[in-house]
Amino acid sequence: MRRRLVEDSVLSFWAKVDRTSGDGCWDWKGSSDVTGYGIVRLDGRLQKAHRVAWLLATGQRPGLRLRHLCRNPRCVRPDHLTPSARSLRAG
Ligand SMILES: [Zn+2]
Repeated sequence: MRRRLVEDSVLSFWAKVDRTSGDGCWDWKGSSDVTGYGIVRLDGRLQKAHRVAWLLATGQRPGLRLRHLCRNPRCVRPDHLTPSARSLRAG
């Protein structure tokens, strides 16, 4: 029963992501907060969409910080995210 709930959540999550851009960003089409980050309700709590995408893609919860390498707050593409708090990559 728990597993079924998780699977439904995964399907409904990716249904709200625009993945038609090929190599580009995957924009979140659901709700967003005042700072532009996508938000989603999962397990009864509002969470940042990109953090949920990371969890679904890797099976691991991100640390305190999960940064966008692409600087697009609506993007939920796991390739564009890094859990490092100190990304040294220049923009
Ligand atoms: Zn991106």
